Amino acid sequence: MAAQATEMLSVDLSGQIALVTGASRGIGKAIAVALGQSGAKVACVARQREKLEEVASQIQKAGGEAGVFGCDVTNSEEVNAVVEQVANEWDGLQILVNNAGITQDTLIPRMSDEQWDSVLNTNLRGAFLFTRAASFPMMQARYGRIINITSVSGLMGNPGQSNYSASKAGMIGFTRTVARELGSRKITVNAIAPGFIETEMTAALGPALQEEVKKRVPAKRLGQTDEVANAVLFLASKSAGYVNGHVLTIDGGMTA
Ligand code: NAP
Repeated sequence: MAAQATEMLSVDLSGQIALVTGASRGIGKAIAVALGQSGAKVACVARQREKLEEVASQIQKAGGEAGVFGCDVTNSEEVNAVVEQVANEWDGLQILVNNAGITQDTLIPRMSDEQWDSVLNTNLRGAFLFTRAASFPMMQARYGRIINITSVSGLMGNPGQSNYSASKAGMIGFTRTVARELGSRKITVNAIAPGFIETEMTAALGPALQEEVKKRVPAKRLGQTDEVANAVLFLASKSAGYVNGHVLTIDGGMTA
């Protein structure tokens, strides 16, 4: 059955600069496009520049503004350089979405040091590096919206994902702490915890496992990337100024 198109939230982000990590595909791409369609100028960040160019051109063809920044989120020099370039040349940074993430699943007895480190480094250290770098222009402007894409795995745990769950639970603690640190400067820091969303990441599960997942979800379907993007639009908007340190699940009721 073809997925139904999601009605997008209408928010006005014109004049604002947004940076989305992991914008080359999946959830990050949907977030970047939604922010661009809402009037923000979007810095699209990931390692694969060619894929980012496609996303930026989609935003531009729809009348929006976007730029491409090739960057490995685990590399602090690259992260600092991207944030400095965006904040200086585009004149500020109001919205940061820490979305880049990977899985490397295996049960704990077989979990290698490399599998542990690469998942923690991409998912948690990446969010830390971008948030630290973005905190300077946001504190200076006394305004900001930071949105961290965590996962229901960080809330519930998931067999085979000790590294991933630890990274996503870490992002939740990180979100709540930075929300407390920056709240007085009109900077909000929130997290979104998606359940199973249709992307390349969940396509890797294969059809049989996907059917099993659907049985566990009260909505009896996987989520759409635009359903996550809509939540980002709300949290990124000026209307959400009193929402801070919150973890919003978007999981069809799986963790209810
Ligand atoms: P995806 O399709 O695999 O996309 C991951 C994105 O992260 C890509 O744009 C990738 O771009 C980027 N990325 C990975 N490592 C990177 C690095 N070292 N530096 C820069 N960019 C990097 O994943 P997705 O399903 O859209 O997931 C997006 C986020 O949502 C992740 O944080 C994921 O954990 C979370 N999430 C997803 C689901 C789901 O069901 N899909 C559920 C809960 C949470 P490059 O390869 O070009 O670098």
